Amino acid sequence: MSIIAEKTTQVVREINEFCAAAGRQPDTVTLLAVSKTRSADEVREAFQLGLRCFGENYLQEALEKMADLTDLDIEWHFIGPIQSNKTRLIAQTFSWVHSVDRLKIAQRLSEQRPEHLPPLNVCLQVNIDDEQSKSGCSMTEALALAQQIDALPNLKLRGLMAIPAPTDDTAQQRRSFAAIARLADELNQQGLHLDTLSMGMSSDLQAAIEEGSTLVRVGTALFGPRPAKTTE
Ligand SMILES: *Cc1c(COP(=O)(O)O)cnc(C)c1O
Repeated sequence: MSIIAEKTTQVVREINEFCAAAGRQPDTVTLLAVSKTRSADEVREAFQLGLRCFGENYLQEALEKMADLTDLDIEWHFIGPIQSNKTRLIAQTFSWVHSVDRLKIAQRLSEQRPEHLPPLNVCLQVNIDDEQSKSGCSMTEALALAQQIDALPNLKLRGLMAIPAPTDDTAQQRRSFAAIARLADELNQQGLHLDTLSMGMSSDLQAAIEEGSTLVRVGTALFGPRPAKTTE
């Protein structure tokens, strides 16, 4: 078996185990394969192993891969920081965007979503550990922003996405994810219809699944360590 095949089998097995331990059905958790820095051939191999959803952070790199993989029925997810001048191509080529954290970007994605495509699925990225990172809206901004995004015609607000500050402390991992899950519940009580919690990566999968993640974004555990970051 190839390395990717071994790792994929391992990750799928872990997700099943974590779901069983949490009393959840494994089909309630989508595995998003984070393919940033990976070649089109690696994505093709992962697809042949059964993975269908792939996450990319860098637009230019993603477009090149998409062009090589048009024969595969891949669902592409954009998960990286978004500059305004990138929204048009993102709206034209992706099915999901997880990293929406301000209204201006959401408005542009909605305006630029081509008419012949279904609404773009989006998650609102929330910054749960405030100081740590510049990406993500604050917990207190989330309700108002979610309501504004939900009103945009060509977007479908699906849920919340979070990247907690990295820690090996599983209790802390769980507290962060629980806070996001609680926020999603609160937004739903305010009339939103969120069905997605995009949370959990290679190093905190179990905590995320225990706290209700419906979509885990996994790179390293599937493909091995990443080479140095590419630039655009
Ligand atoms: C790179 C990345 C991941 C995957 O991280 P791993 O630790 O390699 O699993 C998940 N989410 C986002 C937003 C990323 O940028």
